[in-house]
Amino acid sequence: MDNRIALVTGAGRGIGRAIALSLAAAGRRVVVTARTKEQLESLVGSIGEAGGQSLAIVADLVDQNAPAQIVERVKKTWGPIEILVNNAGIGSSESPQQLVDYDDDFWDRSFAVNVNAPYRLTKLVLADMLQAGWGRIINIASINGKVPVLHGAAYTASKHAMLGLTKVTALEVGDKGITANAVCPGVTATLMNDKRLQYDAQRTGNTPEQIEESASLLGRRLDPDEVAAMAVFLAGDSAGAINGQALNVCGGRCFN
Ligand code: NAP
Repeated sequence: MDNRIALVTGAGRGIGRAIALSLAAAGRRVVVTARTKEQLESLVGSIGEAGGQSLAIVADLVDQNAPAQIVERVKKTWGPIEILVNNAGIGSSESPQQLVDYDDDFWDRSFAVNVNAPYRLTKLVLADMLQAGWGRIINIASINGKVPVLHGAAYTASKHAMLGLTKVTALEVGDKGITANAVCPGVTATLMNDKRLQYDAQRTGNTPEQIEESASLLGRRLDPDEVAAMAVFLAGDSAGAINGQALNVCGGRCFN
């Protein structure tokens, strides 16, 4: 396998961690970033034990200077980023509200992490990708980029925006050896979704187990590894003809 340089945001846990581990297992040098240092250290340890190479960068993507600082640090250490996985995200369950009562600050933070940081990172890595004539941009959106989630205006709107960003990126650089695609996970067993499960249980009077059973046609939530498999495929040379798509990995929950 090639040892291309991949950046995975929000890699400390959940889907991002699974993607980072899978990319490292496929031979990529993986830069992992998030706010929680201990989770990144644990991940770097696991990648190293499996014989992979990784570099941890602690950063808060609400800070609009963070993307440039991350990209610069990677360039100085290893070189230009060849695979960008915009995975970090803020879920609806951090502050679920109906729109009329929506928390403006939460709206802004959600857009900062779910849209503005991916926009800035994409812009920053594109120049090098264009020069190299090869690149992969993989945006971890959501099925809520296609269908709404109740009391999740910022999440729904930001994930729709991420699909728009993916499509325009693909349109502009698709003839230059670069692809930009979105992965739209369904309900996946991570900390983010644990919180949503609890909120929905409280809201509906169902048990978390009942809600989990209806999460997909599989009768369960997805495992982060099942989402990571799609991201790893999109990062490879064999996915070069797939561009500008929003690919569901949802166990048959969403048919859009
Ligand atoms: P998670 O377990 O909560 O992980 C989110 C990751 O993002 C963490 O590593 C977190 O690290 C990082 N992050 C959050 N805020 C950040 C910030 N301000 N700056 C830097 N990093 C930040 O969630 P997940 O379920 O794996 O979600 C990963 C992606 O999949 C998200 O984009 C989410 O919207 C999407 N998704 C998830 C599901 C699901 O059911 N789980 C479904 C569809 C889509 P720190 O807190 O340490 O910063």
